[in-house]
Amino acid sequence: MPLVHMGDMLRHAHRHRYAVGAFDLVELSFLEAIVAGAEACAAPVILSLAESHFEHYDFELAMAATVAAARRARVPVAIHLDHGASLESAVRGIALGCNGVMVDASHEPFEENVRRTRAVVEMAHACGVPVEGELGYVAGVEGEDAEKHPGEVVYTAPEEAAEFVRQTGVDFLAVSIGTVHGRLRGEPRLDLERLAAIDEALGLPLVIHGGTGLGDAQFRAIIERGVTKINYYTALADAAAASIRARAAEDPRAGYTGLMRDVRRAIRDEVERCIRLWGSAGRAAAVLAEARPWREIEHVILWNTDAGEERAAAAMAEGREKLARIPGVRHVRTGTAVDADARYRYCWLIGFSSVAARDHYRDHPVHVAYADGTFRPMAGDRVRVDYALD
Ligand SMILES: [Zn+2]
Repeated sequence: MPLVHMGDMLRHAHRHRYAVGAFDLVELSFLEAIVAGAEACAAPVILSLAESHFEHYDFELAMAATVAAARRARVPVAIHLDHGASLESAVRGIALGCNGVMVDASHEPFEENVRRTRAVVEMAHACGVPVEGELGYVAGVEGEDAEKHPGEVVYTAPEEAAEFVRQTGVDFLAVSIGTVHGRLRGEPRLDLERLAAIDEALGLPLVIHGGTGLGDAQFRAIIERGVTKINYYTALADAAAASIRARAAEDPRAGYTGLMRDVRRAIRDEVERCIRLWGSAGRAAAVLAEARPWREIEHVILWNTDAGEERAAAAMAEGREKLARIPGVRHVRTGTAVDADARYRYCWLIGFSSVAARDHYRDHPVHVAYADGTFRPMAGDRVRVDYALD
């Protein structure tokens, strides 16, 4: 399973001075094109889903497809929640299969940014999931021109960045050195000295948002100075749109699939161009050898009760409802034996995003109250085993 720890993946990139593409997807064509592009280049890749795009697709359905794509990929993959707006968003992202989350409170004053980011770090780290914070303000929204979301670009200060990392415990930091989200008129002017000073002060993987529009030499310069994750969306969306326009001009009677015919190819070409430029091509095997595989846990309980079918069903319904809300829980499923003579009549199948999440769950007050108050008193006859899934 080529889902790997994002922290391991990015630390490899940081050590070897290349950058991994974190490509935002908004529908299946993007997902397929990004994975195909990474596979063609034998590159590690981050599949990224931005909360600002959730109005365009169903996050839960998109995550199911993203997890399936990651599992069958031939290159190391991480799944990232991009620009998570709240603690609840991060909990939901992890529940749906993200193994990295970003919390974006960079528009808030420093103290408030620290407070919100630290809350997400505490929750996510308890689930074994690394966190990206942002300090300084990158104008605009993913895929929308900065002109529409003006706001001053606020540059990241190196000393403040070090303090931010110390107070929040973030694993990666998105910095503001002159890029903006979306398209820019003219070439952006980057503050490379500032970036080098931040890299020197922090020594952890740095992230750039608003990569579209940077020149090749600019990309090389920021990667030399510690940038190891590049968020990239607008240029992919533009390539897709250009392909659709070209098809519409070529065949004015084309239907939906006709218009979409070349979209995957167009996105994939841009993905491959970036991957080669950023130096992650050919790194898949080295990352797979070094990065820990991301192994989810299945917590299996088989049990019997003398309390009767009705009370058993009510207890399971209560558990499904309450336990699924604990951070790091991927699913809570219950079942009843198909055969009447089964040794155990009922089961729980509870999925966790990691061993850490399983440990966190065990001591979580909601679980403790349910287990002691409802479940254990009625289920004297039970076995429990936790499995790391292959
Ligand atoms: Zn961004």
